[in-house]
Formats: sequence, C-alpha cells, structure tokens
Amino acid sequence: MNGNMMSQPLLISSLIEHAQNYHADTAIISKNTDGSMTQSDWGEIANNSKRFANALKTFNLSASDRVATIAWNNHRHLESWYGISGSGYICHTINPRLFPEQLTFIINDADDKVLIFDKTFLNLVLSIQATLSSVEHYICLDAYDEAIKTALPEVQFYDDLIATQSNHFDWPMFDETRASSLCYTSGTTGNPKGVLYSHRSTVLHSYAVSLPDSFKLSATDRILPVVPMFHVSAWGTPYAAAMVGCSLVLPGPMLDGASLVQLIDDYQVTTALGVPTIWQGLLNAAQQSGTQLKSLKRNVVGGASCPPSMIQTFKAVYDCETIHAWGMTETSPLGSVNQMKAKHLTLSEEEQFKSRFSQGRPPFGVKLRITDAENSTNEIQRNGKTAGNLQIQGHWIVDTYFGKDQSALTSDGWFDTGDIATLDQDGYLNISDRSKDLIKSGGEWISSVELENIAIAHPEIDIVAVIAAPHPKWDERPILIAKKSLESQLTEKDVLDFYINKIAKWQIPDKVIFVDAMPLGGTGKILKKDLRDQYNAVLLEA
Ligand code: AMP
Repeated sequence: MNGNMMSQPLLISSLIEHAQNYHADTAIISKNTDGSMTQSDWGEIANNSKRFANALKTFNLSASDRVATIAWNNHRHLESWYGISGSGYICHTINPRLFPEQLTFIINDADDKVLIFDKTFLNLVLSIQATLSSVEHYICLDAYDEAIKTALPEVQFYDDLIATQSNHFDWPMFDETRASSLCYTSGTTGNPKGVLYSHRSTVLHSYAVSLPDSFKLSATDRILPVVPMFHVSAWGTPYAAAMVGCSLVLPGPMLDGASLVQLIDDYQVTTALGVPTIWQGLLNAAQQSGTQLKSLKRNVVGGASCPPSMIQTFKAVYDCETIHAWGMTETSPLGSVNQMKAKHLTLSEEEQFKSRFSQGRPPFGVKLRITDAENSTNEIQRNGKTAGNLQIQGHWIVDTYFGKDQSALTSDGWFDTGDIATLDQDGYLNISDRSKDLIKSGGEWISSVELENIAIAHPEIDIVAVIAAPHPKWDERPILIAKKSLESQLTEKDVLDFYINKIAKWQIPDKVIFVDAMPLGGTGKILKKDLRDQYNAVLLEA
C-alpha cells in the first residue's frame, strides 16, 4: 500500500520558485567582471532566470541538451543556471583554468550546444572556437559590446536576450531523476571525466548542506561562496541559498585576500566558503589591513585538508568558527562535515577544539566505509587508527561517469574515492592522503598532510606542499616545497628544526625547497603532480 501523500518531483526549478515566493526581497550582491557591483534580489534573479528560459526556447534545443558556462560567480551566471536546468537542459559548468586542449576535450565530449561565457574569457573562447565540434550558439554574459561582436560575430549578449523576453514562464514538470548539471573532474591523470548530477540529487544535497550540523545555513545568513560555481557547483551553495532564502555575495573574478576582506566587511558576510589557499591569502590580507572581520561567524574549508593552525587563527583572532568539510566532484560534493556531538561538549575546551580538526562525519544521505588496500570490498574496523581506502555511497554520489557504460563502483556498489583515511566509531573521518600522495619510505607510510600541517603552522611560511621524491636507498623520501612570507629570512635548517619533537625523526623531510610561487590548479589546489615532475630527481643527484 502506498502512502496517501502528495508526490512532487524534486526539481531545481522548485528552489528558485520558493526563493521568489518567500524571499523575493533578499539581497543578491554581485561583483562584475570590471569590478563594479550589482545589487539584485531573489525576485529579480528568478524573473531573469525565466526570461533566459524563454530566450533558450528560441534556440531549438532538445530536452537534456547541454548548455555550457565558462563564468565567475556572479548574478547573471546564477540566473542562467536556473534558466538552463529549470527548462530541462543540462547546465555544464566549465573550469576556465584548464588547458585549452582540455577545454576542447570537455566541450566536445559533453556535446555542448550553447557556450555561455563571461567577457573576460573571450580570448579563451576565440582560441578554441575552431576546435569545437558541437557548439551552435555563443552567449556573452554581459551587455552589448562592439569589440566582442567584432571578434565573435555570431555572439549574442545576455542582457539583450533577457531584455526582449517576458518573465512569464511555467517551469516544466518532469521526472526528478533527469540530469540537471554536468561537471568534469579535475583530471590530474588522463582525460577529465564528467559527473552528471540529477535534479533529485541536487535538491537532496541542498537539504544536507544547509543542516545545522552541516554548513548551518539560514534565512538570516549572508553567504560568500568563494569556491567557484565551476568547482562542484560552488559546493551546492547557489541551490541551498535559494532553499533557505539566505542572501548571497558573489565575488566575481577577484579572489585575492584583500578583495575578499573588503567584500566581507562592506556587505557584512556571515559565512564564507573556500579552499585552504584562499583562506591563507585572506588571513594575510586581514592581518595587513587590521580588520576584525566582525560579521564573519563561520568559514567552511574544504577541497584540501585544512591545517589546524588555520582553524586556530580564525578562532583566536577573528572569533570565527571554521567548519572543515570533505568531498569531491563525484560526491556533489558533501561527503562529511565537522560538527561536534553532545558528548563533545563535556570535553575540555582544548579537546573540543582538537575535535574540530578532522574532516568530520557523514550527514544523513551518505555512508562511508574504509577497506583494505589489497581487497577493495573488505571493510576495515572503524577504530580511528587503521587507515584504508575511503569509499562512499549515497543519494548524491556518482554511479557512472557521463557517456560511459561501465559502472564507476566496486562490485558491491561503493564508490572508491582514492583517498586514504581512518574512520572512528561515530563516523568521524580523518584523511591522511590521496593514495598517490602518500610517501613510502623504506616500506613505511608517511602522511604528506601531517608534514604540511606542521610546516604551515610556522608564522613565516605562507604555503607548503610535501611530496614524495625517489630516493636511492629508501625508495621515496618526503621533501618540502615552501613559499616564505614576504621579507622572511628563514633557512632550510630553521624549517627542519621546526619539525623536531613534533614528529618521529625519520619522518622529517629530507630537503626544503623554497619557491616564489606554488603551482595551483583551476580550483586553487596545489598541483602536486607538477611538483613531483619538477623535483623528481632532487634526491638522486649526488
Ligand atoms: P575535487 O573533485 O577536485 O573536488 O577533489 C576531491 C579531492 O580533494 C578529494 O578526493 C580529496 O583528496 C581532496 N579533499 C577534498 N576535501 C578535503 C579535505 N577537507 N581534506 C583533505 N582532502 C580533501
């Protein structure tokens, strides 16, 4: 017997409809590509998304056709997202920092019919245009611009398109399992792979990220997603924000520390989200300007391991609670988030604080397990000590990559993340490494994350990476690549001495290499593969 309750598909259009009905005057503040600011609200975002949906109707697209975006976090991009997915097309977000060959591969692989771009990416689009096999329409996310029209005669302008369209549009109803959006993995090895999210997975994920034990989003918040909309949908925040009706500050292309500090202070941001390298830049800028970041209650850190020293600084200096979360493109991304349980409240302040360092526990909707390295379906006991392959299952976890026939799962239906981790009885997750980043020295494993966390706590070090370098005797040994803070006189010996008594002697890196800049990937993560290639021989040279 079925229950006698209404059944409505979980569609992305219902999120923007909700925001329009009940949060129409809540502010959406956006930085444009030229640095100017646009003040909008959910009502206007919703109306424009309907105008854009009407414009897309004139393009003769078929259901589930892919519409690609190469754009920063801004209001037009947000409107286009809802217009595309709400109409039943698939919004394909593209990372502009990829190599041109990778962009071509991704766009052709996705068979994108429309390419929407911010005007800062005009040259990028022009440089690959001849290699694109499927794109029929180009839309520049801006007002009419003579120079752009001359360079790309077939281009249409977003502002013109929506200006001529009505804001009356009935969002179509369809099955909630239909695809809504597409994002390719970073692809550090081989070609990037597409992860195809559904309306259902996106709406359920929005509930999960908003919960009090997740990012704790509410209608009283103003959130700043620094994490780009092309990096796993800005961790789902544009959807979750519409669901809870909070205000958004969209930072556009300027993601340097000083610009972010200014946005937080000028617009009274309560919650901001980004990868650790972004926060390092922000902390440096905040220290220089002397701001207290008074409005900022929480910052969510994920995408790479958050160093404990960063959590400490945010708490001690800015009274800001850092929420450490873990996830990946294949997991929408939320897989775990660090919030305490009631039993932690009886711990000492210091122990409570330490409990916030790990990547946290899974929210309802996902399950985690670790398995042994030899057999990917053999689950290891959750004792908080034994590390294994981290695997995940859930409502918003990939099943099969886009365009592939073969399942991406283990024989018993779990997705193997490629991360090495421990889990404790309560499901708290501690990532020790990506499997390929672990260092195997004389048969013993060394965690690069542990070594990085120690070095980054040094006040004169800005950014670090520990990698394995081939070694004639030990197979591999850790080496530390570091960027010093401005005017620091730090020597290699100073850094190595900093490790003494903090870690077993044999785990201390063999070498410290100072660099002026760290190679960063499209999502702000350190490109360890590039570092491994570059410093592959440093311990082999006599
Ligand atoms: P991506 O799909 O590009 O977002 O990359 C996902 C990978 O980033 C994960 O498999 C982890 O290796 C890493 N990652 C994400 N969040 C964390 C975290 N909080 N701590 C450590 N590694 C993380």
